[in-house]
Amino acid sequence: MTDFTGLELAQPLLRAIADEGYTTPSPIQGKAIPPLMEGRDLLGVAQTGTGKTAAFSLPLLHRLDGGDEGTAGRPHSRQPRALILAPTRELAGQIVDSLKSYSRHMHIRTAVVFGGVSIKPQIKTMNSGVHILVATPGRLLDLMNQGFVQLDKVEFFILDEADRMLDMGFQHDVKKIAAKVPAKRQTMLFSATMPKSVQGLASSLLNDPVRVEAAPAATTAEKVEQQVLYVSKDNKRNLLGNLLKDSSIERVLVFTRTKHRANRVAKHLVDMGITADAIHGNKAQNARQRALDGFKKGSIRVLVATDIAARGIDVDGVTHVINFELPNEPESYVHRIGRTARAGADGIAISFCDHEERGYLRDIEKTIRQTVTVMEDHPYHAADVETSTAKPPAPGGRGSGRGQQKKRTAPKPGQKSGQNGGQRPSSERPAGQRRRRPNRSRRTTGMAA
Ligand code: AMP
Repeated sequence: MTDFTGLELAQPLLRAIADEGYTTPSPIQGKAIPPLMEGRDLLGVAQTGTGKTAAFSLPLLHRLDGGDEGTAGRPHSRQPRALILAPTRELAGQIVDSLKSYSRHMHIRTAVVFGGVSIKPQIKTMNSGVHILVATPGRLLDLMNQGFVQLDKVEFFILDEADRMLDMGFQHDVKKIAAKVPAKRQTMLFSATMPKSVQGLASSLLNDPVRVEAAPAATTAEKVEQQVLYVSKDNKRNLLGNLLKDSSIERVLVFTRTKHRANRVAKHLVDMGITADAIHGNKAQNARQRALDGFKKGSIRVLVATDIAARGIDVDGVTHVINFELPNEPESYVHRIGRTARAGADGIAISFCDHEERGYLRDIEKTIRQTVTVMEDHPYHAADVETSTAKPPAPGGRGSGRGQQKKRTAPKPGQKSGQNGGQRPSSERPAGQRRRRPNRSRRTTGMAA
């Protein structure tokens, strides 16, 4: 029995929720699920980290499958019954992963289509039929224009991150798609912010919607003590080794952007005599499971992971998250740091930020609406990395170019930071990162909007 039982969701969904380890509906779930179960349209003001995906997915799956009747039947070729639009392939991928988890005890077929990859497998999937299609607008229109997706059987239409969809220039695509969805349908629109453009879209698509709001993702972030160390790329491995001398860092998830880097970092730690393993998409399922089991049991202290691989990780007692590399998607940062401070526990997130990643940090701070504390008294903190105006190689992500703004903060006189120029410092501070440092040695970057 969980708090979810009061929401009248079908048994297979309650089982999946229990499998996920959810015990209590998040605020947006508590507010959105009842009207959605009744078939109402919904306008949700919420962002990633609030549990919005489950808020729309659970009632969608329930209704699609006729509640406990399990009447979804076989899907029709090319004709989904539910359409979910998302602005980015990352978000679309996350939604489809969540839907698959929540429907694991049901016979619901879900697929995702997005651009930048071959269209052929997507055509094949559409031909064989899916109940729920998650799509980015551009690729969906391609498939529609070629006749491989028809929307005339859509009963459920969901737009996620509508503000970002419009920011990215998808307004016309969304309108074209919406025009093909039958008027008789249930529509849900989620957006982190409600500018006029989104309000206009909402009023053209929604019919007498219920409006629900949830606290922004910052509520997750607020529970976690967040720190950043500016460090040269070459010095990151030494810094990691230095931090791990602190035995209060008991169970730590280290994030990298690439699988290759995850392997190299894990190997480096093992060579140092630290129990570590890597988990990423190139590893066989049993190797991933072994690493995860070892991490859960405590025989592995450090698990090095990529964002995708970490998505399913739900381990209690992760004392620290270390961002060996900052993610180029701010949402990934929120997901990453959310792996610590679970179930009300304290958590610490330490990010290593090199010259090329400063734009990523700025994007992150805007998203979490918080500034991240710079550990400028740490011997590895390199002020020159933070303040240098030298043009770095383009990072190639969303933060591109924005990391090169003018110098904001001059290094303080006598400050140790940066004096080592990327070399191992002569005197190393005993770790003890869980202790708060005196305020005068901490400052914030002041970059959040
Ligand atoms: P979302 O805002 O949909 O991206 O969800 C953020 C995270 O919260 C995901 O990792 C979900 O698995 C998790 N989550 C969603 N609902 C709950 C819940 N009721 N209890 C605990 N975790 C949840």
